[in-house]
Amino acid sequence: MPDCLFCKIVRKEIPANEVLRDEYVVAFRDLNPQAPTHVLVVPTLHADHLSDFAAKADGAHITRFLQAAAELGARFGPNGYRVVMNEGPEAGQTVHHLHAHVLAGRRMSWPPG
Ligand code: AMP
Ligand code: ZN
Repeated sequence: MPDCLFCKIVRKEIPANEVLRDEYVVAFRDLNPQAPTHVLVVPTLHADHLSDFAAKADGAHITRFLQAAAELGARFGPNGYRVVMNEGPEAGQTVHHLHAHVLAGRRMSWPPG
């Protein structure tokens, strides 16, 4: 996926404010934060969205993706945090490389908009 924005961040071709990087995931601050902390967790393996990732990723990638979201939630949201994955037009997905939003630092409302 040479033209994928988040693949370019994974390959360090585009700069990002990174908070975590390993073999399986890269996490960085969202350019348009919706909470005092808003980071995106991105698998290094390209998948268009969660359904695609679930279909093609192995257990190690899936496990690390979830662990990373939990680690970042604990680091930035000791009083609680929210993890969001948008898939498809009705959910408002704009970048077609799976990412989990980890939001923390303010009280969240429910239901989400
Ligand atoms: P989604 O709408 O769920 O696909 O989320 C895409 C997110 O990526 C949005 O919250 C954007 O603000 C964020 N975003 C887009 N480009 C960048 C970038 N270059 N660096 C960091 N965040 C970005
Ligand atoms: Zn990609």
